[in-house]
Amino acid sequence: MKQKELLALARNTNTSDLIREASVIRDKGYGSLVTYSPKVFIPLTHLCRDVCHYCTFAKTPKRISSPYMSVEEVVDSAKRAEALGCKEALFTLGERPELRYSTARKALSSMGYTTTLEYLKVASQAVIDNTELLPHLNPGCMSLKEILELRPVSASMGMMLESSSKRFCMIRHFSVLFGFKILNNHFLNMTIFIMAFSYINQRLDSLLPGFTYTN
Ligand code: SF4
Repeated sequence: MKQKELLALARNTNTSDLIREASVIRDKGYGSLVTYSPKVFIPLTHLCRDVCHYCTFAKTPKRISSPYMSVEEVVDSAKRAEALGCKEALFTLGERPELRYSTARKALSSMGYTTTLEYLKVASQAVIDNTELLPHLNPGCMSLKEILELRPVSASMGMMLESSSKRFCMIRHFSVLFGFKILNNHFLNMTIFIMAFSYINQRLDSLLPGFTYTN
């Protein structure tokens, strides 16, 4: 597709037009072929520092039996999946739970790590060492340095872009700082205040125009 055509598409806000155009491009390339990758989900940890209100994955420490899967559990799960024909190990996990929960910090520390990403690297390496599965990592937002750090142990990585919105983070951080200052650390009031701000921010984020990706 030529640059001029791509730019014209980018300016087109008519969803039906875009769907039609996307279908034509897909059919030209792949016809009716549908591919899929048999994979096993490996929920390394259900803890997450974020609070996305639609999320059904993240749990609080009280609602889980263990903060992290052990490496042995990861390998066991991967081996059983491989025996069933899986080709990929999809590490699903919350984003940097150690920044929010002491439970996560303590669990990591007891295993000799300070961050979930460090532990993820070891767990992913264990899958490579013990199976033929290709690890795919989905640990939330990462810096370029962190992505490069995990690259040798992953076939691919995914990122939850909803937590990378600068507009959302800016307002959220403002609401937290503002809440601390005005309410003088009164825990209950502050919690209600932040929840209200967070709710409004998320609604605003979805209403304002911009690129949004949901995994
Ligand atoms: S960042 Fe992901 S895991 Fe964490 S709360 Fe949001 S959707 Fe759930």
